Amino acid sequence: MPWTYDPTNIFARILRGEIPNKTVMETPHTLVFHDIRHLAPVHVLVIPKGAYVSLDHFAAEASGDEIVDFHRTLAKVCAMLDLSGPEGFRGITNAGHHGMQEVPHYHLHILGGRVLGRLVEPA
Ligand code: 5GP
Repeated sequence: MPWTYDPTNIFARILRGEIPNKTVMETPHTLVFHDIRHLAPVHVLVIPKGAYVSLDHFAAEASGDEIVDFHRTLAKVCAMLDLSGPEGFRGITNAGHHGMQEVPHYHLHILGGRVLGRLVEPA
């Protein structure tokens, strides 16, 4: 498998309690917290507690319980933050070099509270 997890990454350190975070919701398998650099009025990160590098790693190797818990928690957070209505939100995940992933622990950005620009600028 192509994924090598680096346990020194910043989100692993948050999960171990070595670095503080502003928690929005926590379950046995999932943590949701505010991004330190808000890019929108709402900007939270949904992360699995397991050691997964990226979305494809999580999708390939996480257990059913982890995958269900991640997405149910995401839905609860969207409802809690008033993102589930017609105004909506954007979910983004970056992977690897081309995706410009900064932190190599799978995370889904949830952005909302304003009209966001286009998804990707043309090359
Ligand atoms: P990526 O570029 O990997 O998709 O996004 C990483 C995100 O993690 C960035 O939006 C960045 O602001 C956020 N981030 C980096 N370090 C920390 C931290 O120590 N605490 C929190 N809450 N967010 C962080």
